[in-house]
Amino acid sequence: MTEFGFIDSIVRRFAALPANGFEGIGDDCAILPLGDGTALLFTADLLTEGVHFLREATSARELGRKALAVNLSDVAAMGGRPVATLLSLALPEGVSEAWAQEFMEGYHELSERYGVALIGGDTTRSSAGITINVTALGRADEAHVKRRSDARPGDVIFVAGELGASGAGLRDILAGHYGTPLAAQHRNPAPQVEEGQWLGARREVHAMMDLSDGLASDIRHILDRSEVGAQVELTRIPVAEGADLQTAACGGEDYKLLLTADGTRAEALAAAYRERFGGPLYPVGRITTAHELVWLRNGTPETLDWHGFEHFKKR
Ligand code: ADP
Ligand code: MG
Repeated sequence: MTEFGFIDSIVRRFAALPANGFEGIGDDCAILPLGDGTALLFTADLLTEGVHFLREATSARELGRKALAVNLSDVAAMGGRPVATLLSLALPEGVSEAWAQEFMEGYHELSERYGVALIGGDTTRSSAGITINVTALGRADEAHVKRRSDARPGDVIFVAGELGASGAGLRDILAGHYGTPLAAQHRNPAPQVEEGQWLGARREVHAMMDLSDGLASDIRHILDRSEVGAQVELTRIPVAEGADLQTAACGGEDYKLLLTADGTRAEALAAAYRERFGGPLYPVGRITTAHELVWLRNGTPETLDWHGFEHFKKR
């Protein structure tokens, strides 16, 4: 069973239950409109030892930051401001007090940086391996919330940063090279918190999500939920230094924003973004009416069996 096949089965099983005002499964966050023009956002992400990290290849501080960063990224992906988190930890006997304190220092450091409160959680013993679950809450003006389902034909597809560094870093780590700059990038994702809020406030931005499983996989979520297609130009994908094109397109955990914007206002958007953040929004393709993903190389369609990165899959 694939991760997404399982999630689909969950959605079907629970479809008849009351939504109680929530817009639930299917986006980076669930949405609860508060009735005053604002909404609360909810997201949860889990990191488990041996699947998401190797204890010997990461410091506790980095792990504390990363556990929070990946959740802040999902709030940013909706155009929201992160406001609070719940943190649940399952720690095995072998984890020292010093390790746990260092983990919390990292978690605190990033919480402080973004002004996010820690409002609860759970702590328990684990029989094997460390498991970390974070639930993050965000707030946004309802009009600023960006969904995966709002891409329109003619939209320009942008990514808000270079891709592939994290995937290349993971390759280094799996080869036992923990000390490389790419490995450090894999362990230290930078969620685009300010960028997400700024893009949320721009009306010409239609759909948005964060790239956690790789462009090749994640863009399909926008296409499915928006009932559109896309053409992606391979030569336009911004490949991070030290990575290659396939890793940039298929590697996971870059946590850069992926968005679509009105084609007639895309250039002005990119110019305003550059003015505000000092870096580019990279246009990588166009949304189309044909319900398929087409890879282009210099404008010519190319058949590629590229998929993203799935933690759930046995490798
Ligand atoms: P992301 O990568 O942004 O964290 P995913 O692609 O992992 O999101 O998940 C897709 C959607 O499925 C999200 O809305 C998420 O909340 C939901 N989801 C994932 N796992 C479960 C689960 N076990 N039960 C209910 N919803 C889930
Ligand atoms: Mg996400």
